[in-house]
Amino acid sequence: MTVGKMIELLGSKAGVSSGKFHYGSAFGEPSGHADRVEAISETLVKHGFSYNGKDFIYSGITGLPLQAYIFMGPIYYQKLKHMVLDKMHARGSGPRVMITRQPTEGRSRNGGLRVGEMERDCLIAYGTSMLIYERLMISSDPFEVQVCRNCGLLGYYNHKLKTSICSTCKTGENVSTMKLPYACKLLFQN
Ligand SMILES: [Zn+2]
Repeated sequence: MTVGKMIELLGSKAGVSSGKFHYGSAFGEPSGHADRVEAISETLVKHGFSYNGKDFIYSGITGLPLQAYIFMGPIYYQKLKHMVLDKMHARGSGPRVMITRQPTEGRSRNGGLRVGEMERDCLIAYGTSMLIYERLMISSDPFEVQVCRNCGLLGYYNHKLKTSICSTCKTGENVSTMKLPYACKLLFQN
């Protein structure tokens, strides 16, 4: 592709100059259709260009000549439509998904940049436990729950009585308050 493109460009330049088709292949020589670089150069020189496809260029901004000759000519190419401008994305705090309470996914939904399984593996390997805690809890979906140490089920906090209660054990004696990601709570309850 790289060398082929150079020859193709040189051939195209000679082609448009002389009004002829040029066979633009780096492998076409045995067929007899392809022009050799020497032949292309000859055509270019005949039409007032440099033999190597480079041109003397003036700057469109200053009007002064550029300090280098520029290799230029017409060429066929296919453009990828993946552009940085369409893809660049970052966010601090923002919208969350209702059921999981975690940040939304994807640029179109102004989503968060996910620390996935592999990123998590790296953080574990480095032993950065506080960073894992921050990414997976604080920056994500922290939630406070009442857990019964007796039966292991989730209870609730009664704001009127100002006490935690386990509705299975009908008591608030063995209930602890702890923090976990809301998605984690969701997993336990389903
Ligand atoms: Zn209980």
